[in-house]
Amino acid sequence: MWSKLESRLKQRQAQDMMRHRLTLESGQDTEVSVDGDHFLNFSSNDYLGLASHPKLIEASQKATQRYGTGSGASHLVVGHSHEHHQLEEELAEFLGVERALLFSSGFMANYGVLTSLFDRNDLLVQDKLNHASLIDGGRASDAKMLRYAHNDMSSLERQLKHKVDTKLMVADGVFSMDGDLAPLPDMLTLGGQYKAKLMVDDAHGFGVLGESGKGTLEHFGLEPSSADIYMATFGKALGSYGAFVAGNHTLIESLVQFARSYIYTTAVPPSVAAASRAGLKLLQTEPERRQQLQDNIAYFKQLANEAKLPLMPSDTAIQPVLLGSNELALKVSGGLRDKGLLVVAIRPPTVPENSARLRITLTANHTRQQIQQLVESITQLQAEN
Ligand SMILES: *Cc1c(COP(=O)(O)O)cnc(C)c1O
Repeated sequence: MWSKLESRLKQRQAQDMMRHRLTLESGQDTEVSVDGDHFLNFSSNDYLGLASHPKLIEASQKATQRYGTGSGASHLVVGHSHEHHQLEEELAEFLGVERALLFSSGFMANYGVLTSLFDRNDLLVQDKLNHASLIDGGRASDAKMLRYAHNDMSSLERQLKHKVDTKLMVADGVFSMDGDLAPLPDMLTLGGQYKAKLMVDDAHGFGVLGESGKGTLEHFGLEPSSADIYMATFGKALGSYGAFVAGNHTLIESLVQFARSYIYTTAVPPSVAAASRAGLKLLQTEPERRQQLQDNIAYFKQLANEAKLPLMPSDTAIQPVLLGSNELALKVSGGLRDKGLLVVAIRPPTVPENSARLRITLTANHTRQQIQQLVESITQLQAEN
């Protein structure tokens, strides 16, 4: 075992694919401290800057005072607190769906949905670029799984022609490594034509997109309830942690009864649910955060286009700069680090071969001056390498 693992590690090293962690000594913000140095942070999913918002901190502290630190048990035993329950009801009301169900993480939510609701007579049809948790859930499911070319509706349509009991189209609302959107209106049309259901993973859309922050469906002028299964997380725009699935009563009750990643795990601490509730409230009371983020995205794109950076077709907070080789991506990302900017290099297997990239994420709290500094630094490093 050990020698096999040693050789896999060596191989990964030789391919410039080794991953490393940074150890932060500060909270998540546009500036972070790592190993005693300060960095401008362009890698966080804290899109609205809520992870350090005083209202979330206060809600979390109050709930900790009342409930202590741990939830103590799974939801079905005695871990389901008032904070969890209120959060579920507030989500259902906000989204206009019958019910919502909390999961301890987005990975577990996706895994739970795909492994518990479908059997061997069913078919899951997934976008090639879907998040790893959807792909792994699909692999572990009893249902058959097919994957269509990214956002390619004719590829999807071909796969929907199979005769099975239930067909479920599954897509990220906003794709996590490319920042583009799934064409949800077209998918719903195909769903109508081929009697296929739709599941949307809106981890990067919820809170950010749409007039009121209801996510990618709202962005397209659709109700969140037009997806049969709507899933999103609290760890990104909501500044907290955990996830939920929303939909009709039958969906939610089936998950409560059958989803093993719901049943056999400890509920997130009540203080975390309280922070998510505060985040959900701020979505509604501070809509200017979404506008600030949109302004920052537009400003970044304008500067990056003027500097002729190889952007990808994204209008969201996820702005990849496509560099190609792992080596170049690492060099530019390392050079940015030396200049005091944190921008992660994303390499295979997270993205396809030869599509290594910088993955820039913008937040509402970035300043114009910080964005200028980012674009100037990348432009310089690109010229040097
Ligand atoms: C982050 C993410 C998840 C996983 O959510 P966690 O709560 O971090 O486990 C699932 N899907 C997508 C698209 C994501 O970006």
